[in-house]
Amino acid sequence: METVAFYTLGCKVNQYETDAMAEIFRDRGYEVIESNEKADIYVINTCSVTNLGERKSRQFIRRSKKINSEAIICVVGCYAQISPDEVINIEGVDLILGTKDKNKIVDLCEEAEKENKKINAVENVMEITRFEEISSNSIQENTRAYIKIQEGCNQYCSYCIIPYARGPIRSRELENIIKEANILVDKGFKEIVLTGIHVASYGKDLGEERLIDVIEKVHKIDKLRRIRLSSLEPTLVTEEFMSRLSKLNKVCPHFHLSLQSGSDTVLIRMNRKYTTDDYRKRVELIRKYMKDAAITTDIIVGFPGESEVEFNETYDFVKQIKFANVHIFKYSPRSGTPAAKHKNQIHGTIKNERSKKLIDLVEKEANIFKENFLNTAREILVEGESKKEGFVEGYTDNYIRILVKGTEELENQIIKVRLKELIGENILGEVIYK
Ligand code: SF4
Repeated sequence: METVAFYTLGCKVNQYETDAMAEIFRDRGYEVIESNEKADIYVINTCSVTNLGERKSRQFIRRSKKINSEAIICVVGCYAQISPDEVINIEGVDLILGTKDKNKIVDLCEEAEKENKKINAVENVMEITRFEEISSNSIQENTRAYIKIQEGCNQYCSYCIIPYARGPIRSRELENIIKEANILVDKGFKEIVLTGIHVASYGKDLGEERLIDVIEKVHKIDKLRRIRLSSLEPTLVTEEFMSRLSKLNKVCPHFHLSLQSGSDTVLIRMNRKYTTDDYRKRVELIRKYMKDAAITTDIIVGFPGESEVEFNETYDFVKQIKFANVHIFKYSPRSGTPAAKHKNQIHGTIKNERSKKLIDLVEKEANIFKENFLNTAREILVEGESKKEGFVEGYTDNYIRILVKGTEELENQIIKVRLKELIGENILGEVIYK
């Protein structure tokens, strides 16, 4: 039996697509093995969000060839899509495939093996209009399953390469989403995450249906207990969206509402489609309907031209919003994006200082958010044993990680716990009932 191994970089959508490609290989009789083992085929699912993502992709290519110089090396995903000429000429690469046609991966690998020639199967993704059906209902994470419901992005934020790598928005047919969700729930998953490249755009290319329609339909699946949403565009949060969402008790009150900057002048240079005042109003709307909601976000510090005043606007805005958590990124120029050509690129030392300052604030705010729930009771979905001996861990619906006394038998169970004590980043809980 021929063997195949995968390396996956980047986002949850990439991980989902790797799982789907692995499934196609298994269906064709291949054995999927670990990436540090000697395989006949290595598939590297690349990321191109930063130059670092590309550098890591090249490292994995070289490493695979070292493990088995005879192996077929297949490079897929965003890096191959953005820089096909560069990737096909990396020593050892046999086949490249972009962000389209991942369901053809086995045929192409077998053709590269038979023909013993390099294959460039990267297609232009800018004219694609239909969502490419590719599904993975093999085991993903132990207790949380991801469903890709949407592809592509039309936002063109000035620092982002994704619209060029993934193409325009394409939404998946609702019936296919429901079919996959039912398969996952029948396999025992209690929590499903609806993911995509820009889920807020769901349905805009199809017709009337929008993300809320998907959530309402998935919500009807009996044995499903939790629905989580991946990163959201603030403009999606309207009175109608929240009033319909708040009626769905399986929806976890955790909103990763992408902000990027707390300065209106920086937001304009980023080509983001909202102001800080608009963002604040959306957060207030969420808290009006879901008072225990966790609001988390992403922020880029050191965007070209970011003055001290603009950074302080971001700092003060973060303080006002009281996020449950913030992922902080230091701006890194991404060749091929407008912002990479902007004047006044910020020096690395300043980026480090600003990032450090914001991290200190965010850690304090994150602890305050968790402490608000001490001595209250909430359900957690147990994900497995914790590093702490004799404890298991899981997340509340509003994404607080809890450790409770228990053993792996509790895995994938939803149990009620009392939140007792904040220890480092986690909360120590006490089981109320199983
Ligand atoms: S919304 Fe902006 S940051 Fe997000 S994928 Fe689209 S272009 Fe990139």
